Amino acid sequence: MGEDIVACVHCGAKNRLGRPPVGQVPVCGACKKPLPWLVNAKEGLTPELQAGVPVLVDFWAEWCGPCRMVAPILEELAREYAGRLKVVKLNVDHHPLAQAAYHVQGIPTLILFKNGQPVERVVGALPKAALVQKLAPHL
Ligand SMILES: [Zn+2]
Repeated sequence: MGEDIVACVHCGAKNRLGRPPVGQVPVCGACKKPLPWLVNAKEGLTPELQAGVPVLVDFWAEWCGPCRMVAPILEELAREYAGRLKVVKLNVDHHPLAQAAYHVQGIPTLILFKNGQPVERVVGALPKAALVQKLAPHL
């Protein structure tokens, strides 16, 4: 698994995404603006849901073709909603318990969590505009 390193959209500085204190969002070490927050779930889903902003979880797998269409959209959303959204990629082959806990039947499935509770679910690969339409009311 790769390190979660992102480039700041404001100044271009490369930042390692640590886990910020609960209720805070990661900020650029150079210019202090919010960073795109996109991480790979490593220790399951629960610790990733403890964020001060809504958390969009992408249930995906290597072998899932449509998941590859969703991935770049999620990277764009993380940049566009920096400071307002956290995106978590959860590989269902590595985290079957999380998949079962949220009754994810097919992938890609995206679930938006607010305060740790699921508030929106998108099954299948939607075009970006359609996805934003579903998510925007919660952001
Ligand atoms: Zn910066």
